[in-house]
Amino acid sequence: LIDSDPLVIPDEFVGYPLRYFNLPLHYRDDLQSVLIPYGLVQDRIEALASSIFLDVHIHIPEQLVCLCVLKGGYRFFSDLVSKIQNENRLQNDRSLPMSLEFIRCKSYVNDSSSEKLEIIGLSDLNSLKHKNLIVVEDMIDTGSTMVALKKELEKFQPKSVKICTLFIKRRKDKKCLLKPDYVGFQIPDHFVVGYALDYNEYFRDLEHICIMEKSGIEKYKI
Ligand code: 5GP
Repeated sequence: LIDSDPLVIPDEFVGYPLRYFNLPLHYRDDLQSVLIPYGLVQDRIEALASSIFLDVHIHIPEQLVCLCVLKGGYRFFSDLVSKIQNENRLQNDRSLPMSLEFIRCKSYVNDSSSEKLEIIGLSDLNSLKHKNLIVVEDMIDTGSTMVALKKELEKFQPKSVKICTLFIKRRKDKKCLLKPDYVGFQIPDHFVVGYALDYNEYFRDLEHICIMEKSGIEKYKI
């Protein structure tokens, strides 16, 4: 059976050298290493999609509302939903109907979390009432974004709320404020970019999950 707990990337692993990968020229000098190659990200998402499909079609026979947390979550969301759709095509005896919603959360400035969280698009979510919801997020670090978002979403009275995140960070200083239901990878405490995760709006156009070089952090600082 597939594990919905994270695949753990240990602290000792500093990533793969860049020279083994095809990387965009415009970012090559700004990156230190490839922490998780695109192919592995895809394989793990496929496993999460099967896990969600198996859990949810048993426990929740009605439509599942999949909520994409933009902008960082858009590629994960798109790949996850299409992999659940594959399950729907391939399984003859069961299926999982979905509807898709989108919101945008903004809290990070440079490489650290800012106090204030901005949520855009909440007013369109009246359709959540009495529905089963899965929130799809790119990354949980302290967990404060997700705790705040969950509180806002509860106001729409959904029947259930599950949290799915591609990455969770292992932090030495504090424990994460919330335990997500489905997690792709647990990663060391680095600031990572790629696969739609940005640094001040740069690096979303990079396939692999990469650790940044200090010079890159300086170069795109605002
Ligand atoms: P939290 O509120 O859990 O501390 O932070 C969650 C949000 O911060 C995520 O939605 C993500 O947008 C951003 N974030 C946290 N860590 C990283 C990281 O290493 N790289 C990038 N690009 N964003 C991050």
